[in-house]
Amino acid sequence: MLIERIWAANSLRNFHYLIACAETGEALIVDPLNAAQCLAAARARGFSITQVLNTHEHRDHTEGNAGVVSATRSKVLAHAGAAGTIGGVDRGLARGDVIKVGRTVELEVLDTPGHTRSHVCLLAHGASPALFCGDTLFNAGAGNCHNGGDPGLLYETFVNQLARLPDATRVYPGHEYMARNLAFTLDREPGNIDAAGALEAAMAQKPEDARVTTLGEEKRVNAFLRLQNPGIIARLRERFPEIGEKPDARAVFVKLRELRNSW
Ligand SMILES: [Zn+2]
Ligand SMILES: [Zn+2]
Repeated sequence: MLIERIWAANSLRNFHYLIACAETGEALIVDPLNAAQCLAAARARGFSITQVLNTHEHRDHTEGNAGVVSATRSKVLAHAGAAGTIGGVDRGLARGDVIKVGRTVELEVLDTPGHTRSHVCLLAHGASPALFCGDTLFNAGAGNCHNGGDPGLLYETFVNQLARLPDATRVYPGHEYMARNLAFTLDREPGNIDAAGALEAAMAQKPEDARVTTLGEEKRVNAFLRLQNPGIIARLRERFPEIGEKPDARAVFVKLRELRNSW
């Protein structure tokens, strides 16, 4: 499986991804925003795009569909529940579906609500698994729930699905928010030396060169995957005493998300 990340260089800091079969050169584009950019990147790599996948219905993840489809006649895939909003969807997806790209790539569809109610992540299995997680999991952060989302559902997705994937899973999010999110982790957990080191590295890198993290690393630096951490809980209680001395993980997640909204 070949992965080409394409930095959109926009204010929302989107990433697009080409996922290609090394044998046939067939490719799937994840979340096209700037169609011309996606088509140029595919051309440069000698890939032919045959499928478009939208992780969810927000415009910054679907805007390039029409341009890619008209240039390539690709099929459009999205969560069945988002298909009506997106329009032009050829294949509505559900949990457990498998997407094939060329001869060698298979991607499992995860149904991952929270950022919106109809959001999919793609999981490539194997020795070096890869997760394309849209606006669900970010580097050191979690998607917001402002536009059709639900923090309780996002919590369920994190705990019951994403956190259970192998630590070696490479994380490919829909946006580049690494430094900002690491700063939030440090605000919540000032003694986290892994986050401090990662922030220093993130400040020194250009977004187009952003490091690809693994889930194992996320568990060390992402506050939304550290819901049992005593330091995070103690500091959260200063702000929200009502959560009590032994808050459940859901309450910690939801309050962290609430704080991050205005942080
Ligand atoms: Zn979104
Ligand atoms: Zn987005």
